[in-house]
Amino acid sequence: MASGVEARRVRIRLRGIVQGVGYRPFVYHLARELQLGGWVLNASSGLWVEVEGPGAAVDGFLERVRTEAPPLARIEEMTVVDAPLAGGASFVIRESVAEEGEFVLVSPDVATCADCLRELRGPADRRYLYPFTNCTNCGPRYTIIQDIPYDRPKTTMARFRMCPACQAEYQDPNDRRFHAQPNACPACGPRLSSGLEEARRLLRDGRILAVKGLGGFHLACNPADAAAVERLRARKRRGDKPFALMARDLEAVERICHVSEEDRRSLTSERRPIVVMPRREDSGLSPALAPNDRTLGVMLPYTPLHHLLLDDPALPVLVMTSGNIAEEPIVTSNQEARERLAGVADGFLDHDRDIYMRVDDSVVRTFEGRERLLRRSRGYAPEPIDLGMEVAGILACGAELKNTFCLSKGRYAVLSQHIGDLENYETLVFFEETLANLKKLFRVEPRAVAYDPHPMYLSTRFALDIPDLQKIAVQHHHAHVASCMAENGLRGKVIGVAFDGTGYGTDGQIWGGEFLVVDYSGFERRAHLRYVPLAGGDAAVRLTWRAALGYLTDTFGAASPPASLPLWEQVPEKKTNALRALLARGAGTVRTSSCGRLFDAVASIIGLRQEANFEAQAAIELETISEDGWDGSYPFEIENSEPWQIDLRPTISAIVADLGRECSLARIAAAFHSTVAAIIVEVCRRLRALEGLNQVCLSGGTFQNMRLLERAARGLRKQGFELFLHARVPANDGGIALGQVVVANAVLRNR
Ligand code: ZN
Ligand code: ZN
Ligand code: FE
Repeated sequence: MASGVEARRVRIRLRGIVQGVGYRPFVYHLARELQLGGWVLNASSGLWVEVEGPGAAVDGFLERVRTEAPPLARIEEMTVVDAPLAGGASFVIRESVAEEGEFVLVSPDVATCADCLRELRGPADRRYLYPFTNCTNCGPRYTIIQDIPYDRPKTTMARFRMCPACQAEYQDPNDRRFHAQPNACPACGPRLSSGLEEARRLLRDGRILAVKGLGGFHLACNPADAAAVERLRARKRRGDKPFALMARDLEAVERICHVSEEDRRSLTSERRPIVVMPRREDSGLSPALAPNDRTLGVMLPYTPLHHLLLDDPALPVLVMTSGNIAEEPIVTSNQEARERLAGVADGFLDHDRDIYMRVDDSVVRTFEGRERLLRRSRGYAPEPIDLGMEVAGILACGAELKNTFCLSKGRYAVLSQHIGDLENYETLVFFEETLANLKKLFRVEPRAVAYDPHPMYLSTRFALDIPDLQKIAVQHHHAHVASCMAENGLRGKVIGVAFDGTGYGTDGQIWGGEFLVVDYSGFERRAHLRYVPLAGGDAAVRLTWRAALGYLTDTFGAASPPASLPLWEQVPEKKTNALRALLARGAGTVRTSSCGRLFDAVASIIGLRQEANFEAQAAIELETISEDGWDGSYPFEIENSEPWQIDLRPTISAIVADLGRECSLARIAAAFHSTVAAIIVEVCRRLRALEGLNQVCLSGGTFQNMRLLERAARGLRKQGFELFLHARVPANDGGIALGQVVVANAVLRNR
């Protein structure tokens, strides 16, 4: 190394989340402090810096540029090369440049920071009560960025011309709004269409308000007003699915939920997800918010507008559910809102800053001290997942429900925001728009497309219709386990337990209670829940009693079902007889090993629920009613077939016997959960004995059941297994696309 006083010039490239997070001003200040000359600029490929000065100062710069980075920045890679001396002691920020074929990491949207909140609340500040206040450390990002490099003309802020005061902030390296692209103030920035006072009054009066947020509209109402909640439910055609809430502050959250230390961390993080927590008995909120559910999903305000809306002392908490009807995508434009939400909202609170990318709220839950994503969207997308290995350019189309897709490039997998259930045209359009946008932002041109082989999925058909790309089918449960492996950085073979509602099997049957031995390039199906007949195929997903008849037929034979069950009283005999006739003939039935259907069957047999109006409703209720502390469990058998079949006939018989003994449903439900957990532990033990594998991945939507997850995890650890769970991507089908990428990459490599 040259001596400390000798002049030296270096060129540095920083990759990662380095744009829109205050990196250039930080670099500028650091260079000035160290009296170095040179420049910094944003390019498509990242941030470029050149500094020149005494060797010791340059070394100090290289150290501090990494260690003292702004809070929102994430450096993935830093390369340094020596450059010829150019002289000159000044340091400047240069114009951004776009480079062909390169990609940078686009920042997710960031909740309003403490500095901006102080200004929002400061009567003397020129942004006092201004609902679009933001700075270099906070504000909209992904939702307003139309192209890179990230500069104002390439955002939906382009149409607002900064006033002299804002322009001065923007150009002043000493200002905390230096190069803050969405910078705005009441004189020059976006405006609300109507008054906040009027909006608050509507809410107090029990009306429904459509509010424009960061990634789309919300529908808001007073959660303590049962009539308002019911009205919203009916107008939105929502069924019993829980509504999310937004609370003014932590104190307001603590009045309605039991909040753990980890929950608090997630609630207040700059990502501001909806956090699912146990509901307090004395919350004072309408039970209609989340019928038959002991949890509530709550978030804190993440835009200045939310903070202002929640200023009303009469309403410290609001229902904040996505602005859509049924399962359509969330509404983003003002005009779309007035058209599609006309029959739902009694009033609108919108503004003239356009949303470019539709993004729903994220949903998390904490478990074992870590945040676990249930829905990965605002605040997280499109932050890439570092795979720790080079992968080919692949588009993975995901599954159908809770769809997300994934693009890979270099070491990164970019998982899209939550797209939704790909069951209607609007959602498919959303999928296509988001795909086009992410391909553009990240400069990805995939050479292969991975898809779920389910022949009826829209995502499958979409994948197969893409010309020129290599097509790679990835079995649903293989993708689940691979997704869990990828986020945990596993490479070799593992035991994968994939429990969920539905996944298309290689034998054409519906899988979902699977024990697989998995690596990225393939899997072996080693055990599964014994097949039961399921009449009516997909219709049975909503009609839980159809799954029950499948299990009862399997257990007792079609001719002699148990005589007295609540099921027989709750479902008309005509219907059950017709289905029994079908089952006896075996016509119109598929076979399933789905764990979701097993939960449905048990919920139906014990008379808890005969029809579900949203996914996993019966399973959630079964979990909810389970008696805490009850540790009974039921017998089961493992048939030594190839693959092993887990025989639940003894379980079903025992449940029916317990019902006859008038055992409490709470105990039956608890014992049933323990049984499923025991099955997982036992099958893993046997597989370990044969395969010598000690790493277990749990994946699939069933593992959103906390009672099951806790018991399975405890049991597996007690047996000395090394256990891997999901955290950064959902265990449900929202995580499938990541698994598809790593599997497709391995398949491509082997071809
Ligand atoms: Zn800020
Ligand atoms: Zn201004
Ligand atoms: Fe699944």
